[in-house]
Amino acid sequence: MKKILVVEDEDAIREFVIINLNRSGYETVEAVTGEDALRIYDEQNGNFQLAILDIMLPGIDGFAVCKELRKKSGTLGIIMLTARTQEMDKVNGLMLGADDYITKPFSPSELVARIDSLVRRVEMNTSANDNNKKREEIRLSDFVLDIRKRTLCKSGKNIELTQVEFQIIEYFFTHPDMALDRTDILNRVWGEDYFGEEKIVDVNIRRLRMKIEDDPSEPRHLMTVWGVGYKWATEQGK
Ligand code: CA
Repeated sequence: MKKILVVEDEDAIREFVIINLNRSGYETVEAVTGEDALRIYDEQNGNFQLAILDIMLPGIDGFAVCKELRKKSGTLGIIMLTARTQEMDKVNGLMLGADDYITKPFSPSELVARIDSLVRRVEMNTSANDNNKKREEIRLSDFVLDIRKRTLCKSGKNIELTQVEFQIIEYFFTHPDMALDRTDILNRVWGEDYFGEEKIVDVNIRRLRMKIEDDPSEPRHLMTVWGVGYKWATEQGK
């Protein structure tokens, strides 16, 4: 059974989330504070597929929990709960390693759809993907993408990527020097049933540039294609 860590200090919201996830076949473990969440995560040896983190918590906030959990695991799916008025929170959370966010108030169907979609992505990445076994490595200039091990190296150095970041990079590496539409990136990585906005693509690209580019403000690999989206530029393609 898929296990989800639910961190929310408001009883009504936490119970609402838990009831709906249990009804959809997920096992849940609840925490009221960030400190509790991190302790429980360690006690259960990180045996979770997903964490749902409220941002405003007593003690350390959801961002701090997100950052700590991401340090512990690159494969855990992380969804932040944000209030409608906290627009910037979405970006902050994503920059700290969250995979998605859900804006309060949300309906049970939206909650479950977002969870299902992230669980699918996490599973796709953790189980070896048969289709990709034919081509295990893609080399583009200084970069080596190992599809089986799901790692990216730049000049021999490993770059830590989240699930979502890896999938974006995989899409670019299998389509080098091609302009990829933001909507296509969104559909491919987040799924066509994704409820969120295309902005999530831009935030992830920003985060990837910080990890990949020598100078993120002057990208030489992850290029913006105005009016379309992005492309991975190889040396040959310049
Ligand atoms: Ca709260």
